[in-house]
Amino acid sequence: MDLELSAREKQLAAKARDFVERVLIPLENVVEEHGELPVERRAALRQQVREAGLAGINHSAEHGGLGLTMLEQTVMEEQLGRVTNGLWTAVWRPPVSLKFGTIEQKKRYLQPSCQGERRGCFAITEADAGSDPRQVKTSAVLRGDNWYLTGEKWFVTSYNASDFIIVHAHVDGDPDKPTLFLVDKPAEGLTHLRSPKFMHTYTFDHAELRFDNVAVPKANVLGEIGQGLDLTKDWFVEARLQIASHTVGAATRAAEIANAYAAERVQFGKPIRDFQAIEFMLADMAVEIFAAKTMLYRVAWEIDQALDRKMVHARASALKLHCSEMAGRVIDKAVQILGGRGYMRENPVERLYRDIRVDRIWEGTSEIQRVVIAGQIRKRGMSVYTDWV
Ligand SMILES: Cc1cc2nc3c(=O)[nH]c(=O)nc-3n(C[C@H](O)[C@H](O)[C@H](O)COP(=O)(O)OP(=O)(O)OC[C@H]3O[C@@H](n4cnc5c(N)ncnc54)[C@H](O)[C@@H]3O)c2cc1C
Repeated sequence: MDLELSAREKQLAAKARDFVERVLIPLENVVEEHGELPVERRAALRQQVREAGLAGINHSAEHGGLGLTMLEQTVMEEQLGRVTNGLWTAVWRPPVSLKFGTIEQKKRYLQPSCQGERRGCFAITEADAGSDPRQVKTSAVLRGDNWYLTGEKWFVTSYNASDFIIVHAHVDGDPDKPTLFLVDKPAEGLTHLRSPKFMHTYTFDHAELRFDNVAVPKANVLGEIGQGLDLTKDWFVEARLQIASHTVGAATRAAEIANAYAAERVQFGKPIRDFQAIEFMLADMAVEIFAAKTMLYRVAWEIDQALDRKMVHARASALKLHCSEMAGRVIDKAVQILGGRGYMRENPVERLYRDIRVDRIWEGTSEIQRVVIAGQIRKRGMSVYTDWV
């Protein structure tokens, strides 16, 4: 068993870490104070991502991406997870479902997205369709050469930074025909209803949209009619790995800050780390990260070894569940160790605390991950999680 990271993996992690320290961390308070990344700073940041060699982190070289393994992506995303305010999203990850597009779609959407010339957002969720996508009401009806989309979408992340939307709709309103459509912005009949505020202060927005008979050319169906959920499943695996990586990175930064603070903060005549209550918290934090990170690298490595697709889904759920909940526990302790300072918005641990809460909700809630895991155990036995394969 060789658990050593390769020289290339270490070098990629160092590259991502450098970008985080040099470019992204200085923007954290800008986003916090402004409410999002100011529009006038976005083009320059995109250029910095390209110059740092970070464009197209999750796609093959053939499609204009970096052609990285899952473990290589993971060690980089872990570093990106250190930043607050969702600034990791500045290093774009074009939706993985685009690789199932036609040659023309890859040319028009995927390749320019890898280079940061275009950006897509993903619209599945609706007012009555969250964990249960069969409740989606957005329908697609074919008339002549166009599909016509009608419905409303919620929580569309990075809508205001995107120039196209991947919309999940039911053909003829039939939940057995979930289908993805590529919708270019602006489009007649597409209305931006609002972008509400959320617990975190994020780099871009989370929009609510209305589609009122929005015409989409036939050529803009992504994949096959009825294949929408299959394509989204692949996206979920990647997104769950990404969340696991980010939450491990976020927990690590919070633990480092808490450790340094505990050594320098003096109360009752001694550094607070000399109180066992504090040092035991630090010990628990370190062990939590140690375990989660080991699990993260293992699953990423297994994906690179072409582990069976069903096992990958099963393990990605467990990983997302464990790492996101671990980060919640660790960062909560970091806030506690920093006392009142940990509650100040100008302090990274306060922002990390708010930022990582959503990781237990989006891309499948913790409860849905448990449903998936329990279903796997029922179908295939405990060994799905307890065997070393
Ligand atoms: C900041 C943010 C950004 C987002 N970005 C996007 C985006 O870009 N695109 C997009 O399409 N969506 C996005 N979402 C939506 C996100 O994926 C959903 O919020 C999530 O899937 C949960 O759906 P819901 O909020 O409707 O909760 P619900 O599904 O209504 O769940 C409510 C509660 O019930 C529980 N529950 C539901 N079903 C079960 C069950 N079977 N067993 C046990 N418990 C259950 C849930 O776990 C939860 O605790 C975003 C959400 C947020 C908060």
